Amino acid sequence: MVGSRFVKVEKRRADLRVPFPPRFASRLTGRTVTGLGRRGKYLIADLDDGNVLLLHLGMSGSFRVEANGGIRRAGIAYRATGKHAAHDHVVFHMSSGVRVVFNDPRRFGLMDLVRRAELESSRHFGAMGIEPLGNAFDAAALARLLKGRKTPVKSALIDQRLIAGIGNIYACEALWRARVSPKRTAGSLVTRAGRPTAAAARLAEGIRSVLEDAIKAGGSSLRDHMRTDGELGEFQYAFAVYDREGEPCRRRGCKGTVSAIVQSGRTTYYCPRCQR
Ligand SMILES: [Zn+2]
Repeated sequence: MVGSRFVKVEKRRADLRVPFPPRFASRLTGRTVTGLGRRGKYLIADLDDGNVLLLHLGMSGSFRVEANGGIRRAGIAYRATGKHAAHDHVVFHMSSGVRVVFNDPRRFGLMDLVRRAELESSRHFGAMGIEPLGNAFDAAALARLLKGRKTPVKSALIDQRLIAGIGNIYACEALWRARVSPKRTAGSLVTRAGRPTAAAARLAEGIRSVLEDAIKAGGSSLRDHMRTDGELGEFQYAFAVYDREGEPCRRRGCKGTVSAIVQSGRTTYYCPRCQR
């Protein structure tokens, strides 16, 4: 998409989770994408008119990049139609010759157009927490966020107002990597002076490493997640605890068994033996 123009925008519904912004298709048509990025769980496409196209996959959304042949590049699926064409809600026809298709069976996804200058204060990002892969995130930053909090550390990790973009899977996996129990209160990872404990330092590292590893593996395909070339992600094969209730802990030397509990309405998987 980068450097390419929207030649035609097909919008096949009036809404996804929320209505599309007014004149969505006509405002995009003719615009060139100048860059792609991400913030939290949002995908960001910068446009040459100072606006930003915001995209969110919701629960079941995916993008597919299609071409009719001729273009041979990694990440492009060479087929005319998707498997579930009934759920292809938006099609971007790009001047490069590719089609970028948004498919979303459950329609929790979202698209919006926002002025670049107003992005950080927009309703999408105004209350969003720190970026865990950004330069500002480290053990000290994590300690500032957790200080004095009485909630379980697992619940704090998936609170998007504190840290952006950590979902249930990655919270469980990061805690396992850090050998931290999900039941500990968030504030217990911070010293009285507000400094990170050793556990907080391991957790900051665990968060960063699990997200980087998952991105490298193309994400986790449990139900719906799919890469843009239609292939599945592979991080689910690397889960240490997630969805492994009753199975042996994967930490070398640990004889524990993975447990499942419910916290803040979500299932937490952990090893009660080596996560303290
Ligand atoms: Zn263990």
